Amino acid sequence: MSIQLIDLPFGSDALAPAISAETLSFHHGKHHKAYIDKTNAAIEGTDLADKPLEEIVVAARGSNQGLFNNAAQSWNHGFYWYSLTGESTAPSGDLAAKIDESFGSLDALKERLADAGAGHFASGWVWLAEKDGKLSLEETHDGDTLADSGFNPLLTIDVWEHAYYLDHQNARPAYLKAVIDGHLNWDFAAENLARGSAWTYPA
Ligand code: MN
Repeated sequence: MSIQLIDLPFGSDALAPAISAETLSFHHGKHHKAYIDKTNAAIEGTDLADKPLEEIVVAARGSNQGLFNNAAQSWNHGFYWYSLTGESTAPSGDLAAKIDESFGSLDALKERLADAGAGHFASGWVWLAEKDGKLSLEETHDGDTLADSGFNPLLTIDVWEHAYYLDHQNARPAYLKAVIDGHLNWDFAAENLARGSAWTYPA
């Protein structure tokens, strides 16, 4: 059983114009697929061949950078697709309370998330994460991931250029604003918070 390219959990034009169907066709159909294919090629015939993606990430971290990059990117993109939705609904319950505790308000969190994404140098990911009951914003560079970090990731935004260049060219802040204002899946964040441990990539 190899790692599978999961289907997008929304229609291909559900995020437009923030993220167009054209961007998704490349980002999911080419970039994410390539990370999965390279992960599967690297684990074929090894002890990792039938392991869950999370175990592959842990095994490769620090010992096999090529496999780590592809496995972590496979995981990050799956998590990113679930972090997005056609139309955001406001956080509620425990998630809303923790956002207020940790950031002051949802608007303050959104502003800090946009600033973190805009300020992130070069390629990587910005994350809303939870640890010891407290929420924080985290950043990882290139293919690095929070999958095995001790943080419980709640949401992520891809800030690699391939995530936004076709739609927004170099205007990363415009991409971030459109995603943060309209397309973050707070229901997914609430599920992750309630589970209390990191999401697992669908087998
Ligand atoms: Mn990407």
